[in-house]
Amino acid sequence: MRVGIGYDSHRFAEGEGRKLILGGVEIPSPRGLVGHSDADAVAHALTDAVLGAAGLGDIGQMFPPTDPRWRDADSLDLLKRAYLRVVEAGLTFVSADITVILEQPRLARYLDDMRENLAGALVSGYSTVSVKAKTNEGMGWIGRGEGVAVLAVALLEQVRA
Ligand code: MG
Repeated sequence: MRVGIGYDSHRFAEGEGRKLILGGVEIPSPRGLVGHSDADAVAHALTDAVLGAAGLGDIGQMFPPTDPRWRDADSLDLLKRAYLRVVEAGLTFVSADITVILEQPRLARYLDDMRENLAGALVSGYSTVSVKAKTNEGMGWIGRGEGVAVLAVALLEQVRA
């Protein structure tokens, strides 16, 4: 068994015009997150956890933000592409646990769809991916609504050498 950790953060855009996408779900919000891709910090943190467990570096190395191919990329697609590399390395996904930290909007009603999307990208069932949401109790940059932070851990199993 191999465990990996992932972290990501993205800033909210100043004005309107960016969608808020988390875990592949478009969430109604007056503001979206800034990023080269779709800025899906949940998918990014999980991708880093999965790559980390496999010892395959990180999302920035695999999909450099300087590469125009990944501009406005669907981050679930990046997760799928990363997982293909993991499978090629002889590993298979077992489970992941994710905590999203932001003040607004509240995510409770979107968590199940996020789980479905993320597990699907890893060719796994809903129950293998847990997604939890918390506020930062009004403290610091998250508390001021400047952005979102996401923590993820992933477990993989080596099934081939
Ligand atoms: Mg990111």
